[in-house]
Amino acid sequence: MRPTAPAGPAAGNRTWEKRQCRLIVPDVIWTGLSAHLLGSNLERFAYLLGRAEIHGDRPGRRVVTIRIRHALLLPDAALAVRTPTRVEVAADVSRAVLRTCYEHALSLVDAHSHPGLSAPAIFSGVDRANALETHREFHATIPARPPVAAASLLLTHTGVDGLWFDPDTGRLAPLDFPSVPPSAAPAVAPTAADAPGAGALPGEPPVAADTAADQPLPHRGASAGARP
Ligand SMILES: [Zn+2]
Repeated sequence: MRPTAPAGPAAGNRTWEKRQCRLIVPDVIWTGLSAHLLGSNLERFAYLLGRAEIHGDRPGRRVVTIRIRHALLLPDAALAVRTPTRVEVAADVSRAVLRTCYEHALSLVDAHSHPGLSAPAIFSGVDRANALETHREFHATIPARPPVAAASLLLTHTGVDGLWFDPDTGRLAPLDFPSVPPSAAPAVAPTAADAPGAGALPGEPPVAADTAADQPLPHRGASAGARP
């Protein structure tokens, strides 16, 4: 008997033994995403939405490709929890995003940052637990046809990491992102507040860290008026 892939919820799909997920992010979206996520000393969050397709690139291997079309760079007001080590999206916002995916058969990639100039791009245990829960919820909510996928990205000033949820195994697996340059993190001016334990060292007072990046949603004046 030849070895087979681990049996999962969809073990009947035995044609394919190995699965892989690739994330394709257009440059213009990536630039905006990384500037948003890394432009603060607190964690930030964004959603990427796109289409998924599945194909076999060689016998016995299936590749899921997510092509990102839209980025939702969440303003701080859309976050229920926001600290240097944790970020949580307001429930009504995440529900609205899930509903959009349902209505338009979109795949969903959540992205968040770990601020700090030396933070390694490694998902924390809490991150992985959250990813597993939200990706399972995604697949439980969104019909599997046309194909959809759920994934997570983590950006730091030192790199990028990604996970996707393989619904056939019920597990998280590494995400490939061939469209993302290795040194994807943009140059954001370091500030004293970036250093862990900032304030413990004598020296100059911290410079105001957040500038324009903290105001992604300018208030629209009433003069903008409502269109008929
Ligand atoms: Zn995290």
